[in-house]
Amino acid sequence: MPSRAILLAAAFLTACASAPVSGSDAHMNAIAESYVKLVLAVGQHDANYVDAYYGPPEWKAFADSAKAPLDEVLRRADALIAQLARAPAGSADDLLALRHRYLRTQLGSLHARVRMLQGQRFSFDEESKALYDAVAPTHDDAHFQRVIDTLARLLPGTGPVPARMEEFRRAFIIPREKLDTVFATAIAECKTRTARHLSLPPGERFTVEQVVDKPWSGYNWYQGSYRSLIQVNVELPIYIDRAVDLACHEGYPGHHVYNALLEHRLVRERGWWEYSVYPLFSPQSLIAEGSANYGIEMAFPGEERVAYEKAVLFPLAGLDASRADTYYAVQELMRELTYAGNEAARRYLNGQITAEQAADWLVRYSLSSPERARQRVRFFDTYRSYVINYNLGQDLVKAYVERAATPAERWRRFGELLSTPRLPGDLR
Ligand SMILES: [Zn+2]
Repeated sequence: MPSRAILLAAAFLTACASAPVSGSDAHMNAIAESYVKLVLAVGQHDANYVDAYYGPPEWKAFADSAKAPLDEVLRRADALIAQLARAPAGSADDLLALRHRYLRTQLGSLHARVRMLQGQRFSFDEESKALYDAVAPTHDDAHFQRVIDTLARLLPGTGPVPARMEEFRRAFIIPREKLDTVFATAIAECKTRTARHLSLPPGERFTVEQVVDKPWSGYNWYQGSYRSLIQVNVELPIYIDRAVDLACHEGYPGHHVYNALLEHRLVRERGWWEYSVYPLFSPQSLIAEGSANYGIEMAFPGEERVAYEKAVLFPLAGLDASRADTYYAVQELMRELTYAGNEAARRYLNGQITAEQAADWLVRYSLSSPERARQRVRFFDTYRSYVINYNLGQDLVKAYVERAATPAERWRRFGELLSTPRLPGDLR
């Protein structure tokens, strides 16, 4: 996941670009400032809403002291949407058009989130459309069963597939005492591979912390000034694939790079303050999670991941590298089962099944361990339809980037996605 409100020194303000500002820029900047203040006002009512903030500290201080009621926030959102509709919208795909569309889409989502906080009920699909501007496809049980039947032929042993999966995966757990080294090695590799193609802002860096008792498995808290705090939940066993996943998804070229590039290119170079705040329940999260997941394939195209892991990470973790090919063949099929997680969330949040039934469904069709399934249901409780941002986001970003034919051109598209105001609608 992405990042938490940490204020930067006011000195940052003066460090930002001070290029001449035209009349229409000034108008858009004023709208952007009101948007940031609105997001901060919603954050007063929803502790998870403001995922990161590194803009002017006085804006945050004002939101904290004003504690604007939701009715007022909604009125201000309506007024701002109307004001934006009157502002020049740019043309085609230029940056001004993207900026305009970004603000309009983010404001629409904020409006829906406020109505949810006021008690309005949405179905799962209505909610994901309103908050993330996307609806995940549905699949029936038979679809997942076909994938599981294929998996059953790959996995050793006989009997129920979930139990066989758990047994199979046991051989790929990174021993606790080796976690730090394996993660640090994977992070260094992902950084090297990313830096070959993207120009990273000077001084960017992050720290990694191990935590327990969270509904997520990893989290990037972006702190501004090109820094992140990455937390890894080590409560449940960590399998070998997690090292590269985590290093790419949370770090390079995932969340850390996305946030740092937005800060560098948009906030600092252009003075576009709307990017100094990150509302978690918003369309931007589909780009964030989708690009973070797809970032793994960017860093390790084709067979490169398995080759690297066999040569470096398996030996480092003391695991049998001769089984890596089978492990990744299984992982490839498991990826198709991530959509079973969306089904569980959809049925659970629509009130069709209980928490316990949702966990059972995850064991049966996502092949999660019972413990991980319960952790996942806790995630549904907190983050709700956010789940679609991971797999649907990944598929949309993949289709968008792979419209380019060559690896260099793909990196160019990917880098552009990470440093311009693009949202789900721009991927289609
Ligand atoms: Zn994430």
